[in-house]
Amino acid sequence: MLAPEVILADPETIAKYEVVIGLEVHVQLKTATKIFSPSSHEFGNDPNTQTDPVVLGLPGALPVLNRAAVEQGIRASLAINCKINRKSVFARKNYFYPDLPKGYQISQFDEPLAEHGWVDIELEDGTAKRIGVTRLHLEEDAGKNTHDGYRDSDQYSYVDLNRAGAPLAEIVSEPDMRSSDEAFAYLTAIKQLVQFSGASDCDMEKGQLRCDVNVSVRPKGQQEFGTRAEVKNVNSFRFAKAAIEYEIARQVAIVEDGGKIVQETRLFNNTTGETTSMRSKEEAHDYRYFPEPDLPPLIVDDKWLGEIRDSMPELPPAKRQRFIDEYGVSEYDARVLIASKETSDYFETAAKLSGDPKMVANWVQGELTGALNTAEKSVAESPISAEGLAELLKLLADGTLSSKLAKDVFGKMFASGKPAAEIIESEGLKQISDTGELEKIIDGIIAANPGQVETYRGGKTGILAFFVGQVMKATRGQANPKAVNELLVKKLAG
Ligand code: ADP
Ligand code: MG
Repeated sequence: MLAPEVILADPETIAKYEVVIGLEVHVQLKTATKIFSPSSHEFGNDPNTQTDPVVLGLPGALPVLNRAAVEQGIRASLAINCKINRKSVFARKNYFYPDLPKGYQISQFDEPLAEHGWVDIELEDGTAKRIGVTRLHLEEDAGKNTHDGYRDSDQYSYVDLNRAGAPLAEIVSEPDMRSSDEAFAYLTAIKQLVQFSGASDCDMEKGQLRCDVNVSVRPKGQQEFGTRAEVKNVNSFRFAKAAIEYEIARQVAIVEDGGKIVQETRLFNNTTGETTSMRSKEEAHDYRYFPEPDLPPLIVDDKWLGEIRDSMPELPPAKRQRFIDEYGVSEYDARVLIASKETSDYFETAAKLSGDPKMVANWVQGELTGALNTAEKSVAESPISAEGLAELLKLLADGTLSSKLAKDVFGKMFASGKPAAEIIESEGLKQISDTGELEKIIDGIIAANPGQVETYRGGKTGILAFFVGQVMKATRGQANPKAVNELLVKKLAG
């Protein structure tokens, strides 16, 4: 049977509606072991090499809560301004799927770890908005089913339990977002805050951050929310945006046609950019939630919470302000420099060593970012360390290198990983600032070009550029431009 054709609304019709979006973000917490058992959950190892009786759901195996997972959950909660509940409760969420051997997921339900948070987002055009965070709760991840890649995949699916039991924080937002851009900005902010808090690396390629997107539409002016669809399987921010855009067009077309939106769970297809129905939306009672009898309530006392609070690293908003105050960089530069923890650390190390933070800010955003993008490398993989960049910029500041030479040396450092001093030495790239040496060259050029000298002395001083060019040519670009200009003006005056 052919699927019924999906009708998508046009932008003009969509403009008559308001979009409502709420996001559920799952973040894998950074711990050595799983949330309720001692196996590692490191990514990328051979299937089923990281299991144990708890993960396998063997009869009689009992979960033991990992203190480090709670600590990381609290860090993430504090980063997004949530209140920590001194008592929270684990619950069983019952459902049947091969990647969940126990037949239930241990999660938190009506008494989560943290609630009532918020995150400030900023759009491209500079508008700021506060998005409410309903709750953050702890839960275990499921394993992975593999449906292809094996010779007999047409007959069998395979189960890998390495990820089963990995510690997750689920962060649920209020339905506060009104566009796919706001959703994108919210995801960016959550990722940044959680990353800086140290709770997770949020490496999306390793599945450490995943999100479910809830979307509904209502005619502009209508008070009550429309019925929502929840889109699962969204594994990049770009896809989240695409899934939202698709849902808006699909839902508006249905409502315009007098139809009703069904509350359902949909899947996003990365290749087509479409969403398709997966199942009708389950309600909480379908999961038969009940308190986990094998775990006592989780109590977070003042002392513990105080210790975690005191050990919280500096978070992006504070860091951004400090970069502006302490290093004198612009608002814009500060925002770019704190985009990731690595970039901000790199900048700060180089800024301190070089003594010229603004120059460092320019080079990090210009040369370094350009070279890294071309090489498809992250800041952490940069062949030029922060120390190396600071050294180069000092040579620029003290006149050893002109800015053109500094850029050449930068390129060579990036390609070879060698320090600036070594490249300058072996290639003889030093800037010529020595007046005696430059004078000799300039005298020669003046003697060889009497016509141009005449022109200059006749008042057409624009021809100075010609002489500068000649000196640069004679010195293979290594003459100090400032010294050359000064000497030329002096000598040409006669
Ligand atoms: P569930 O656990 O069944 O997915 P929740 O009540 O936890 O349901 O809500 C999930 C997400 O859906 C939240 O982020 C919430 O903000 C969002 N949401 C709720 N109602 C709507 C709506 N009408 N339109 C868009 N998003 C919504
Ligand atoms: Mg949900």
